[in-house]
Amino acid sequence: MEEVVLTYRCPFCGGALELVEDESSVWFGCRRCMRYVKREKRQIVKRYVDYRGRRFNWSGVMAELYHLYIS
Ligand SMILES: [Zn+2]
Repeated sequence: MEEVVLTYRCPFCGGALELVEDESSVWFGCRRCMRYVKREKRQIVKRYVDYRGRRFNWSGVMAELYHLYIS
């Protein structure tokens, strides 16, 4: 498992939000609150990889996960 500490902050406790991935999914959330949201990697790739431009829209993914987290 890979773990990334992010600049996003948890609106509930103020802690840093983290991104954790396993084989099929990406989890985004707060360790202190034990609150996480999940997206399948397949979905993310389909929506955020621009094959023609060979770019990955990382900030788009983060924005979506953050919205999911706070809603
Ligand atoms: Zn929190």
